[in-house]
Amino acid sequence: MTQKVAFIGLGVMGFPMAGHLANAGFQVMVYNRTTSKAKSWCEQFPGNYAETPAEAAKQADIVCCCVGNDDDLRQVTVGPEGAFAGMQAGTIFIDHTTASAEVARELAQEAGNRQITFYDAPVSGGQAGAENGQLTIMIGGPKEQFEQILLLLNCYARFAKLMGEVGSGQLTKMVNQICIAGIVQGLSEGMHFAKSANLDVAAVIEVISKGAAQSWQMENRHQTMLAGEYNHGFAVDWMRKDLAIVFDEARRNHSHLPITAVVDQFYSEVQAMGGSRWDTSSLFAVLESKRFKH
Ligand code: NAP
Repeated sequence: MTQKVAFIGLGVMGFPMAGHLANAGFQVMVYNRTTSKAKSWCEQFPGNYAETPAEAAKQADIVCCCVGNDDDLRQVTVGPEGAFAGMQAGTIFIDHTTASAEVARELAQEAGNRQITFYDAPVSGGQAGAENGQLTIMIGGPKEQFEQILLLLNCYARFAKLMGEVGSGQLTKMVNQICIAGIVQGLSEGMHFAKSANLDVAAVIEVISKGAAQSWQMENRHQTMLAGEYNHGFAVDWMRKDLAIVFDEARRNHSHLPITAVVDQFYSEVQAMGGSRWDTSSLFAVLESKRFKH
């Protein structure tokens, strides 16, 4: 029997992710707050759209979701006409939003009260990863239904792993964001210094990317950083949302994140430069803007 899936949130990430499910043969019902995007999704993929999350979720065996932040997630799940109101007992909710571990635990509790199983499943890999079906997915939730959801997740994942109980997916994503913040700042400072030393920056990267300084950011972002192009999708506004979640959790688990805290301030400088929608490699622009100021 064809599995029925609902997908809530057709943004940069959700739109192609839902598309992969439809192309893989799932019977997909989408919901998007701005209905024009849902209509345009239906023109590109086999599937239908609903006017509310509850309506989209009504017939679904599995409901997936990818919205902005904790509050958006609460709205589309337990808010008026939220998905949970439409879901049947025994169904599964998978959340791909980057949100707090707290909200994951809170919604898992709410879901459990209705015999719905909740998984937090944030993703890494950006717009390109979503479009190419090459996302990395870190998941928190019970072992029992994991094999079942893995079949679905594999439609857009290159790698998906159950990290532990609910909330573990979000905690793993926080580690991911902490690591990215430090790496991008380090790369930006290296390139900024290379320019100041009148080196051929592209040649420098060609050499050092063969050694211990190599990183995904170095390989994939140095050329566009040098060109001052920051159009890679994952916006600085989103990164600051993610880092705020990280700092909240760090206060609770008493970890010290001095570099991440400084980098967050540099991202606020990017915002002040008008770069709210630039991608995270724009830390380089902050350094370059200061080149002649001292
Ligand atoms: P996006 O393009 O801004 O899309 C956000 C989606 O959420 C839209 O469909 C939006 O609906 C919907 N939404 C937001 N608030 C809502 C609300 N209160 N009620 C109903 N729908 C609501 O964002 P995105 O880039 O796809 O990112 C989505 C999530 O994935 C975020 O948590 C982000 O941090 C995470 N993420 C993004 C990337 C990336 O590279 N973009 C990578 C990894 C993780 P409308 O169309 O009506 O606005």
